[in-house]
Amino acid sequence: MTNKITTSNLGYPRIGKNREWKKALEAYWSGKVSEQDFLAQMAGIQLQHLQSQQKAGIDLIPVNDFTYYDHVLDTAVMFGVVPQRYAYNGGAVPLDLYFAMARGSASAPACEMTKWFNTNYHYIVPEIGSLTPQLTENKPLAAYRFAKTQAGIEGKPVIVGLYTFLKLSKGFPAAETGEVAARFLPVYIQLLQELEQEGVAWVQIDEPAVVTGLAPEDIELLKTIYGAISAAVPGLKLILQTYFEAAEPLEALLELPVQAIGLDFVHDGGANLEAVERLGWPADKWLGAGIIDGRSIWRADPDAKLGLIQKLAAHVPLDRLILQPSSSLLHVPVTVQSESKLKPAVKQALAFADEKLAELGLLAAAAGGGNGNAAAQLAESREALAAFRALPERGRQDVAEQVRRLDALPDSRSLPFAERVKLQQAKWKLPLLPTTTIGSFPQTAEVRQARLKWRKGVWNEERYDAFVRRQIAEAITLQEELGLDVLVHGEFERTDMVEFFGEKLAGYLFTQNGWVQSYGSRCVKPPVIYADVAFIQPMTVKESVYAQSLTRLPVKGMLTGPVTILNWSFVRDDLSREEVAKQIALALRHEVQALEDAGIEMIQVDEPAIREGLPLKAEDHEHYLNWAVRSFRVATNHVKDTTQVHTHMCYSEFNDMIGAISAMDADVISIETSRSHGELIAAFENDDYDKGIGLGVYDIHSPRVPEVEEMTQNIERALRVLDAGQFWINPDCGLKTRGWEETEAALRNMVLAAANVRKNNA
Ligand code: GLN
Ligand code: ZN
Repeated sequence: MTNKITTSNLGYPRIGKNREWKKALEAYWSGKVSEQDFLAQMAGIQLQHLQSQQKAGIDLIPVNDFTYYDHVLDTAVMFGVVPQRYAYNGGAVPLDLYFAMARGSASAPACEMTKWFNTNYHYIVPEIGSLTPQLTENKPLAAYRFAKTQAGIEGKPVIVGLYTFLKLSKGFPAAETGEVAARFLPVYIQLLQELEQEGVAWVQIDEPAVVTGLAPEDIELLKTIYGAISAAVPGLKLILQTYFEAAEPLEALLELPVQAIGLDFVHDGGANLEAVERLGWPADKWLGAGIIDGRSIWRADPDAKLGLIQKLAAHVPLDRLILQPSSSLLHVPVTVQSESKLKPAVKQALAFADEKLAELGLLAAAAGGGNGNAAAQLAESREALAAFRALPERGRQDVAEQVRRLDALPDSRSLPFAERVKLQQAKWKLPLLPTTTIGSFPQTAEVRQARLKWRKGVWNEERYDAFVRRQIAEAITLQEELGLDVLVHGEFERTDMVEFFGEKLAGYLFTQNGWVQSYGSRCVKPPVIYADVAFIQPMTVKESVYAQSLTRLPVKGMLTGPVTILNWSFVRDDLSREEVAKQIALALRHEVQALEDAGIEMIQVDEPAIREGLPLKAEDHEHYLNWAVRSFRVATNHVKDTTQVHTHMCYSEFNDMIGAISAMDADVISIETSRSHGELIAAFENDDYDKGIGLGVYDIHSPRVPEVEEMTQNIERALRVLDAGQFWINPDCGLKTRGWEETEAALRNMVLAAANVRKNNA
């Protein structure tokens, strides 16, 4: 007997197979295509995406997951949530206003952008304030009609749930969330009623904010919202969709009057399955079972997945089970088919969006009693995975041995900071309030072209090296002339701070087309850790040693830290992230040693991404921070007492991890704070942080050249909390996205500001 199990998708990547979505956007922004042509191109892309899912045989195809920029921004403008500075007078939000909110305009700065939960996708933060919402247009309805008329698809509209929308918004006190929800409920209901009238069957209401933890008042709010909604639209089947973590307490969600609940059975640490087994499944609900990893690029193990389905089927009848990815497929590239350079054993172990949808169909068929075809394809999957697992570079004895021995390595520097700092002062003899930069200098078109020529073989290694050396020499001369105290080589040889190391470490591979959206039209192509990571040969020594040979001032060696390398890569899923971080840390430990052996005795190990790996649930923070800090220490704690370890982070929300930052035990840390000075300084006020610290004194994200006076004030404000003896003066991040002209002018002013403050503190 066969049972047809329903399959569903939660969201499809927007960017297109060849990033045609990105290209269309950028062409429109630059004025190369008209609004009308742009809209036509977008419609074409949207249709293709629907058809790909149709071809994969997915039963519930999402609509309204497609957007021109960001789905949270879509939700905001749909409800008229447009900040006052944009001079908006109600009604449908014009396209250019929509983009102005995302990207800024001549008359008003952009809305804030921040990370979507623990992903590298960024959404536009809605600014609600006191405005009264209105339904300016019904986007899900339009998307539903589009799919129906253009592709004959009975789509499943996706909307951001009210609870999550409010949790992600700003402009009102958290204590007033209930009142704000009451203001929004009528327009949410209006939207859903229009869908109901249209004859829509299923609606997916995304409520990922649920997984970050539910306080009693959160549960009350959910009850109010869903009570009101479900009473108003009895004809719709509502799926309350969660993802990225376990939805706890599941008891509370099961009581909500919705027809289906979607749970993530991949990133839940087993808690969702455990809860279903403990509580059983209510007879009146469907379960959206997120069984295929929406965040990884790997083919699923069919036997493990069939086992999971079987466990779920013990509690949920097959005709109430919906098989789906664990989250939207927005976080993975479109298709493996575009990859032509990977070796077969690796390529066949990959699954991007299209391949994941095919996996779902296959699992649904196999679990529902199957057909002969499914059995053959399952066998193929098993073989592919077996071949991949057997690759020798994935099971290196030497790497395993080193990781085993890692626990026996000393956990700290040989001297505590209070003692080694004296030796470092004696060695380095830096002035009060030393000035430095974060590492990179402008990556001009010339630098990028040179690298391209070298990559294409137009330039040989020697020619490219000579070019990089010239850049380094010019940067050193300039820094000396500006009067900076601690110099950098400028990172001209690096495109990207993770890719550069990935290309030089064992265990990495690079896709040709594995792009994912980061924000707006900006896409990234994360390198892939597919095997054991290990040191092969020095990666940065050549450039650092050359730079140091040109000056008597110290030049910092410059590395990317283990946690950042991990967090900005796609990572193999057969080892824990902690385990992979250890492998990277050990490889970097070699590099740090190589730098020190070569006479580089100030070494900066950047960890800008340490904050974003923080788990969504507060109770998991400690475990993560423990291994993250440990990885950093393994990479750095074996240096001489006099060697000065620096680190850099680009984030300002550190209040919840200041203890961990201190535990990293870097001698000097620089932090990006110029846009939120007050807050971060307050964080340091409460903690007695005794190590060197550079709070960025100007914002490098804008071409504006800050005045001396402005930076002087920034420094003086910081010195009210921090000791002048521990303070460093630097911009708030690397300068690679800036031009030379503004960089030079800003640094000149920064050095002058430092001199002013030194005088006052002398
Ligand atoms: N050293 C790096 C640079 O200056 C740091 C970049 C970053 O913080 N993201 O570019
Ligand atoms: Zn930074």
